[in-house]
Amino acid sequence: MAYDFDLFVIGAGSGGVRAARFAAGFGATVAVAESRYLGGTCVNVGCVPKKLLVYGAHVADELEQAAGYGWTLEEGHFDWGTLIANKNREIERLNGIYRNLLVNSGVTLLQGHARMTGAHEVEVEGQRYSAANILIATGGWPQVPDIPGKELAITSNEAFYLKELPRRVLVVGGGYIAVEFAGIFQGLGADTSLLYRGDLFLRGFDGSVRTHLKEELEKRGLDLQFNADIQRIDQQADGSLKATLKDGRELIADCVFYATGRRPMLDNLGLENTGVELDERGYIRVDDLYRTTEPSVFALGDVIGRVQLTPVALAEGMAVARHLFKPEQYRSVDYQNIPTAVFSQPPIGTVGLTEEQALAAGHKIQIFESRFRAMKLTLTDLQEKTLMKLVVDAETDKVLGCHMVGPDAGEIIQGLGIALKAGATKQQFDETIGVHPTAAEEFVTMRTVTR
Ligand code: FAD
Ligand code: NDP
Repeated sequence: MAYDFDLFVIGAGSGGVRAARFAAGFGATVAVAESRYLGGTCVNVGCVPKKLLVYGAHVADELEQAAGYGWTLEEGHFDWGTLIANKNREIERLNGIYRNLLVNSGVTLLQGHARMTGAHEVEVEGQRYSAANILIATGGWPQVPDIPGKELAITSNEAFYLKELPRRVLVVGGGYIAVEFAGIFQGLGADTSLLYRGDLFLRGFDGSVRTHLKEELEKRGLDLQFNADIQRIDQQADGSLKATLKDGRELIADCVFYATGRRPMLDNLGLENTGVELDERGYIRVDDLYRTTEPSVFALGDVIGRVQLTPVALAEGMAVARHLFKPEQYRSVDYQNIPTAVFSQPPIGTVGLTEEQALAAGHKIQIFESRFRAMKLTLTDLQEKTLMKLVVDAETDKVLGCHMVGPDAGEIIQGLGIALKAGATKQQFDETIGVHPTAAEEFVTMRTVTR
């Protein structure tokens, strides 16, 4: 049977665009439907605008350090409106680039919500299209717990478009987004509290990293409240918000920001018209080739809930395009040793096993850990410490994990990701010549076993 397209992609985000472009490049006829914004979460309300706001907040650090380097600055003034307008302009530029990337690769771009009406059929704006294969790349959406007053809270989606910087902010959650936005709000001058329901935030990260970041954030004056959970939110007569905690305490703020995880975006997708099934967590179930339980339908990225990172969605998009249209070039995605950064202030960079994971996996391990004040701070009054840590297999000498909290951690960890993928040993780290004077050289000069 002849179909309108070889591949119909639902969602022009990180994974969908990558799969569509490569499939078209391999000679397939491809359509992409997008209901909101080209580039998806990452470009519009994720990685990119977030990093621009992190840069904006980081300027405060540079200004604080300036005096030690002989600079006298007049009192600075921050204008949220300017930052947001400039950020919006950059996002519009990127939207245009994504449009050109797709159109120039010969992909048919359809604007509107897509709904599957069958295993080989998609409806967009009342028009039906047939396709040999359908790819669901619809991403995720912020999830706010169902408490009274939840409609008064915002999520990352709205934070990027706030008209003004709130004076007092409560950030709820203890994952990537909560920690990053607490740093943004506080760095830009808002009186910020971070509320997390457990004992210590960033569950799943290395224990030393979590404790170190906690200490550094406290030094910066961020109000960290652990074992704290909001029971209800009420608007007060003056417009401010009152958050009542489960322990009875009341906190007043101008903005309550929830970063309590994301759900797969499956709204009105028409799954019921296909044999696509969900897994026990509610994400789309796929096999190793990203095929769903409906053989003509594939899914990738945040909607399958494996690793919710843009470079992972990109790798999955490449894998699907190659599997379908260039099988001789197919390579499976390696989910081991994925390097990642949390753009907190200071940032985290991490790759490989945490100390806790290595022990749980039965490794006999050696820990090399170093805490130091970065050279850049020596001419200033700032007492911030950088943490670097290596988890090494005591029997094979293989480096199992590298963890860092400190300036440029994300930049530094990328190279170490290559080392771990190549299976580097501690001896090879030791034999690598350092780049001097840098903070990064500490990763190749840690000689004494800490534990
Ligand atoms: P998405 O990029 O979400 O794209 C899905 C697209 O599908 C969207 O454009 C949506 O509008 C569209 N869509 C949905 N349903 C339909 C439909 N029925 N019809 C048509 N279109 C539809 N990752 C990093 O690696 N580094 C970071 O620094 C980082 N920062 C982040 C910060 C925030 C605040 C957030 C929320 C996420 C961040 N992420 C980061 C995660 C990253 O953005 C996601 O992992 C990535 O965007 C997932 O790509 P995707 O292709 O699965 O989905
Ligand atoms: P995460 O899953 O990382 O964190 C969610 C946090 O909210 C956890 O601390 C969780 O606590 C807490 N939480 C969950 N449910 C509730 C609840 N009902 N009440 C109170 N707290 C709750 O999600 P995020 O929203 O921070 O980010 C989503 C994903 O996006 C990340 O996992 C990451 O993959 C990606 N991302 C990547 C970034 C990067 O690469 N720099 C930046 C931002 C996002 P607990 O731990 O106790 O379950």
